[in-house]
Amino acid sequence: MGTIQALRGTRDILPEEVVYWQKVEATAREILGKAAYQEIRTPIFEETGLFERGIGEATDVVGKEMYTFLDRGDRSITLRPEGTAGVVRSFIENGLFAQGGVQRLWYTGPMFRYERPQAGRQRQFHQIGVEVLGSSDPRADVEVIAIANNILQTLGLKTLRLDVNSLGNAEDRQQYRQALIDYLTPYKNELDADSQDRLTRNPLRILDSKDERTKEISLNAPSILDHLSSDSKRHFDRVLQLLTDLGISYELNPRLVRGLDYYTHTAFEIISDDLGAQATVCGGGRYDGLVAQLGGPDTPAIGWAIGLERLIILLQKLQEKPRQFLDFYVVSRGEKAEAQALILGQKLRQLGFSVELDLSGSAFKKQFARADKSGAVGCLILGDEEAENQSVNLKWMTTKEQQTISQVDLLQKTEQLRKEIDSYQHSGVTSGLSRLF
Ligand code: ATP
Ligand code: MG
Repeated sequence: MGTIQALRGTRDILPEEVVYWQKVEATAREILGKAAYQEIRTPIFEETGLFERGIGEATDVVGKEMYTFLDRGDRSITLRPEGTAGVVRSFIENGLFAQGGVQRLWYTGPMFRYERPQAGRQRQFHQIGVEVLGSSDPRADVEVIAIANNILQTLGLKTLRLDVNSLGNAEDRQQYRQALIDYLTPYKNELDADSQDRLTRNPLRILDSKDERTKEISLNAPSILDHLSSDSKRHFDRVLQLLTDLGISYELNPRLVRGLDYYTHTAFEIISDDLGAQATVCGGGRYDGLVAQLGGPDTPAIGWAIGLERLIILLQKLQEKPRQFLDFYVVSRGEKAEAQALILGQKLRQLGFSVELDLSGSAFKKQFARADKSGAVGCLILGDEEAENQSVNLKWMTTKEQQTISQVDLLQKTEQLRKEIDSYQHSGVTSGLSRLF
């Protein structure tokens, strides 16, 4: 019998890589917290109708990418392909709108789409996203873009491009849709198969095609920017002005349409040239109609989602693995010493130190080798003699300085120990034992 493997399009994120994920999550959490965004956690599966109504039946996501199944009670369930629909459902169901004002929410977690797996494209992938509900002010558009920018720059990603477009309001979009159909119809037979199929279902998406001939044809297609009402145009101009005021550079991209149906007005993507075909790290936009469409009160909204797999690919290229610090590695040998080592480790952890206990029971030499590899600042050594005297041998790993002290003393020198370890972690050298004890 063969071994069982992870399903196609899913992957394990092993400890080596998780360090990067934690860095991203911590950075995002901090920046979002400072901007008064609150975290929301919604279920990973929802009633299928939520996505059909929310994202739109004609979209790729609903049309061919959803993980939909019947549960044991014959309900049609879908693993969430994106975060916005669930957040909006929750916003309506929990009456968050009744709190008035603007709701600033963020989420993170796995999303599921049945796609052809390739670098930066999986069937289970992860996003961090924000949704700002209750403001139609162009400043909200710019705030969310600025925050995405902030997160990516703080992580050290500097060579990203921001593309922006406006999709206008529902009416503008409807008119533009027709103009586009009129322009494309004579070329119908020259379009790629997908695009032919989209011509009536979702013609805007044709602008997004990767097919060379289709791209050529759509080069001369009418621009959505020429179909904006004066209100839509005013909103968009203000967004662009504020971006400039904030020193955020952008490129106008009238071909940027985004995959989901619910977008209105501002749409944007943050793109990296280092990701090959899967270049978009962050996608977002305004979706003023969605809350009402899902049965809630008329509520303008805007949000984005960052694809974490793609972000991590970029980070791994750019940065050394974030360092993980360990304060103490504890080696011990002999029944009595091993018991004391366990207790000492536990007490040190309660005092706030990070402690790894060697469980191997092997010779001291082998345990020391592992202590070296562990990256710990200090090694605590307990043998028969230490166990007998209730003492411990403390060895600083960089200087190799060593001293035997009583266990009670060690546990009382918390502050000095902390200082010593911090000085090592900041400068890479310890200041020396003699000064401490
Ligand atoms: P794409 O055109 O690359 O399929 P999309 O328009 O379908 O992207 P969105 O729905 O806007 O993507 O999702 C926001 C971000 O989530 C994307 O920019 C991308 O970084 C990430 N993402 C989307 N689908 C996947 C996937 N299957 N695997 C990994 N990341 C994904
Ligand atoms: Mg997609």
